[in-house]
Amino acid sequence: MSDTKSDNFHLPEGINYECTGCGKCCGGWSVPLTEEDYHRISDIDWAKESDRYIGKALFRELKDYESKGTPYTNAIKEGSDGHCPFLVDNLCFIHSKYGAETKPSICQLFPYSFNKTPSGVYATVSFYSMGAVNNSGKSLIEQRPYLEKKFAEFKKLYPDHEPNWSQIQLSTGFPITWETYLEYESKILSYINDRTMPMEQRFLNASTYLARTLAERRASAAGAAGASTNGSPNNASPPPPAAGASSSSPQLSSAASLNWLDKHLLTGLHKIYFPAKRLGRGEGDFNFYRFIYQVIFQGIIPGTKLQLPGRSYSFEELESMPFPSNEDQEIEDLIYRYFFSRIFGKHYFGAGFGQLTLISGFNHLAIVFALLKLQSKAIAKSRDVGKVSYLDVAAAVRLLEKRMGETNLDGMAAATYETLMHSPRRVARVLAHS
Ligand code: SF4
Repeated sequence: MSDTKSDNFHLPEGINYECTGCGKCCGGWSVPLTEEDYHRISDIDWAKESDRYIGKALFRELKDYESKGTPYTNAIKEGSDGHCPFLVDNLCFIHSKYGAETKPSICQLFPYSFNKTPSGVYATVSFYSMGAVNNSGKSLIEQRPYLEKKFAEFKKLYPDHEPNWSQIQLSTGFPITWETYLEYESKILSYINDRTMPMEQRFLNASTYLARTLAERRASAAGAAGASTNGSPNNASPPPPAAGASSSSPQLSSAASLNWLDKHLLTGLHKIYFPAKRLGRGEGDFNFYRFIYQVIFQGIIPGTKLQLPGRSYSFEELESMPFPSNEDQEIEDLIYRYFFSRIFGKHYFGAGFGQLTLISGFNHLAIVFALLKLQSKAIAKSRDVGKVSYLDVAAAVRLLEKRMGETNLDGMAAATYETLMHSPRRVARVLAHS
């Protein structure tokens, strides 16, 4: 896969979308409304339109932590079934009565996402949508004029969308230009696109490539410092190997077992991205320091089992269950499209995700891939079946996409991710034991 572009509006190859009318996008969240949306929709007397709305409170004000940094002020209250109350027979009642333009702005834009960068705008789709999960309909490339129109709507909704890409770094203390990033990204994608090997190995190869690139940058920085001290770059020490990087890509089979910290990291991330109970925007963000405080000062040793509603699973029992990505083309394709879309859309590092450095942002994605496998297995186990199905993986992808969009990564959380995700050895262990 690559991308096609015109006027710096980039679209991914191989990503299709059309609404399948399943109604799933209209459930599991409280639809946020701008001030304008709120007045437009709440001014309508819905009880007159349908008896189902008589005596119902349909809207609520957003709490501060929900509205912070967003254009939204209010939200549609979810119905008792977890769906938007305007979803009737799998159709939007607002749309059918008053037309698409009366719907909330976010519903008009969904599931398209746009990311402005120094090399143009990168558009893709949210995998919370079943249409995106199933790759339904025409390719985004064929829908270019429509997506450009959607981007104009996006700019109206988010006039301040100016992500700051000026501070991007390969690793802390190693800034890179946008052009250099694009070179690294094309190499990362060449590893991820290599369908001759399992996805785990592709992630590991890309992570190792970044670690080696950092080792070279360090060596050349040390060489330059040596040259200024000794007068000749030839006096510099040979490049130190990056942690976990060797002259050929390491194999997963040689990775060590998960250690105590790996398990706690995975358990902590699992609680954020695959919570056993419903969490909203900004709830349940990563707090490693709270974890350390609890262990040291309160003597609470959290467990290392992955929780699903009413059940929990150890890493060992999940690891022993096979994951069918290599035999099941549909599963492999879904996972590939999901991660390709994130990388293409630049939603994994820098201004695209918590201002993480490229190495930590990419390694986080690799660890998230491992968690996605574990979650899919846990879902299959909770159904008391011994085999992961496409729908188990689809459910895990949709929840992951939703939670990654809701998770705030600022301050301490970003620093924690930066520290714990930097090691390619950790990536190898986690990929090998998922
Ligand atoms: S307002 Fe309409 S499109 Fe938006 S979530 Fe509700 S039913 Fe779906």
